[in-house]
Amino acid sequence: MSKQIGLFWLRDDFRIKNNSGLSEATNNHENVSVFYLYNKSEFENREAQNWWISKSLKEFKKKLNNLNINLEIIKVDSFNIFFDELLKQKNFCLYWNKVYEPKYLDLDKILSEKLKNKKINFKIFKGNILNEVGEVLKSDGSPFKVFTPFWRVAEKIYHEKIPSNYKKINKCKKKINFFKKNINESEILPKKEWYNKFEKYWSPTEESALKELKTFIKDRIENYSEERNFPNILGTSKLSPFIKHGQIHVETIWEECNKIKKKGVNKFLAEIGWREFNHSLINFFPHMLKGNYSLKFDKFPWEKNSKFLSAWKNGLTGYPIVDAGMRELSKTGWMHNRVRMIVGSFLVKHLLINWTEGEKFFKNSLLDYNQANNVSGWQWVAGCGADAAPYFRIFNPILQGEKFDKEGSYVKKWVLELKNVPKKFIHKPWELKDESILKIGKEYPFPLVVHEKARSKALSAFKKI
Ligand SMILES: Cc1cc2nc3c(=O)[nH]c(=O)nc-3n(C[C@H](O)[C@H](O)[C@H](O)COP(=O)(O)OP(=O)(O)OC[C@H]3O[C@@H](n4cnc5c(N)ncnc54)[C@H](O)[C@@H]3O)c2cc1C
Repeated sequence: MSKQIGLFWLRDDFRIKNNSGLSEATNNHENVSVFYLYNKSEFENREAQNWWISKSLKEFKKKLNNLNINLEIIKVDSFNIFFDELLKQKNFCLYWNKVYEPKYLDLDKILSEKLKNKKINFKIFKGNILNEVGEVLKSDGSPFKVFTPFWRVAEKIYHEKIPSNYKKINKCKKKINFFKKNINESEILPKKEWYNKFEKYWSPTEESALKELKTFIKDRIENYSEERNFPNILGTSKLSPFIKHGQIHVETIWEECNKIKKKGVNKFLAEIGWREFNHSLINFFPHMLKGNYSLKFDKFPWEKNSKFLSAWKNGLTGYPIVDAGMRELSKTGWMHNRVRMIVGSFLVKHLLINWTEGEKFFKNSLLDYNQANNVSGWQWVAGCGADAAPYFRIFNPILQGEKFDKEGSYVKKWVLELKNVPKKFIHKPWELKDESILKIGKEYPFPLVVHEKARSKALSAFKKI
């Protein structure tokens, strides 16, 4: 046990269970300090996540406290400047878990070099992923571009590795303050009232994540394959924000799912597989973080229309299923996957607005935002990604509504203006000619565009490329 201080750099790892970097630090050192770097510029365009992180820090601080570990929050302008300052001292060892975004993996390399040069001990661990990025490759060593063969190989590789042993976290001898300038997590909390609504829907703790997982496995996984498509029922796990911030490790999800033999397990784990696939994609093809994966889309004649974009953001397109999704997002910081596909398709194919606008808005609004899933999800919808939906498959928002929200209960939950509209008209309220129920154009907008016209316009734009 070293008398030197162990420092653990906390990022997307708000958990005690299966946290390799933190457990190694407490196993090697009598005293450990955990630090979180709040880099404002990183969070400026991720407003919703400021709420989740502030809450997570508060809760995790309490847990660490019980282990005699301080959680120190430090405001920084740049990671590099912070570490250059830190490395002027030598009385510590540094530990962290990887985050699989190219810029963070690049930072790992730079930081490792600096630490080696200064002869400071450090250890980097696998992050919240089943297989390391780069482990799952085709037989010729190249990266996969199609999901199904990727997942076949990925599952096999992971199966051969488990059970993975993870060490427990030790209680430290005494609490130490390593850094001089700490801030309180409340300083991260956004000022806008908007976020207060999230309190009603989420509790960002490790316990909640484990509880949600167990309930999902007990009550819902059996019917996951069928029910995951219906936004009016709670059919999915809703674990995404917990996974993003590491309140739960995907290995734990895998382990718990495989303890039971229920229908639905494979389909559910395949969705975790999409997350793995997307992380592989953005690291092997980082150009997709700046634009289209498929370069022929660089010539696509996108339109700039701030009125349309604002109506879409505010859930005022006149298509109820689209508006319900956008309002669910603004109220809860989350949106059902089926509806993410519908609102995405509408923005890109009906309004001909560049998918990057949607990506930016989701980044700012989603509690589960992660670069790999968001960029890949948007490019899947737009048709310009790897293994994406073909561009010419254009969702009809009326039929999507009628198929996946048959009774209109999802729409009525989020678009209150439509609560008295009969089922027959709930996905096309402009056809209801009864002003005593709905004054269309006043209480709820007419559709921004007519589906058939927008569809043929999109197809001819697509033909140009
Ligand atoms: C346009 C668009 C943007 C998206 N942006 C994000 C994002 O920023 N962050 C994010 O986590 N997911 C994103 N997704 C994927 C998906 O919508 C969410 O992961 C899912 O809705 C989360 O709900 P859940 O936890 O109940 O999912 P479940 O169905 O319970 O799935 C379990 C887990 O598997 C993963 N997963 C599920 N579906 C997908 C998928 N299609 N692609 C990749 N991973 C998946 C998630 O980690 C999810 O928590 C996006 C999808 C689209 C179409």
